[in-house]
Amino acid sequence: MVKGVKNLLPFLVFILTRFYFYVIIYLISLKGAIKMKYIGIKFDKNKASKTYNYVCKRIYKTIRCNRCGCPVLKSDVKGYSYQCLNCDEDLYKIETHKGKPYTEEEFNEICLMTQDLLLLDN
Ligand SMILES: [Zn+2]
Repeated sequence: MVKGVKNLLPFLVFILTRFYFYVIIYLISLKGAIKMKYIGIKFDKNKASKTYNYVCKRIYKTIRCNRCGCPVLKSDVKGYSYQCLNCDEDLYKIETHKGKPYTEEEFNEICLMTQDLLLLDN
C-alpha cells in the first residue's frame, strides 16, 4: 500500500506542475491580450485633458492590483478604495498590494484605458 502511494507521487507532482504551468501561461496570455491593444499608442494629454487630469488626481504610485499587477486608481464608488482599469473593476484594499512604482509606459497605458472606459473627453 505504502509502495503504491510512493509510485503515484511523481505522477501527481507531474500533473500538478503541468496544471500550474498552464494556469500561468493562461494568465500571461490574458494579460498580454489586453495590453496588446495599446502597444505603440501614445496618449495625448492635450487632446484628452479630462482623462489626463482624472488619472493624475487618482493614481497611486506604488499600489497595484493583485489579479493583474497593474497600478490602481482611487475609486469613485462608495465602499471601494481602488479601481483597476485593466480588470475594469473596483477593488477593496485587500485586493491590492504595495509594489514597484508605476513606469512611464504603465502610466501611458492607464491613460489610454481610462480614455476607452470612462469616455471623459468624448
Ligand atoms: Zn487588475
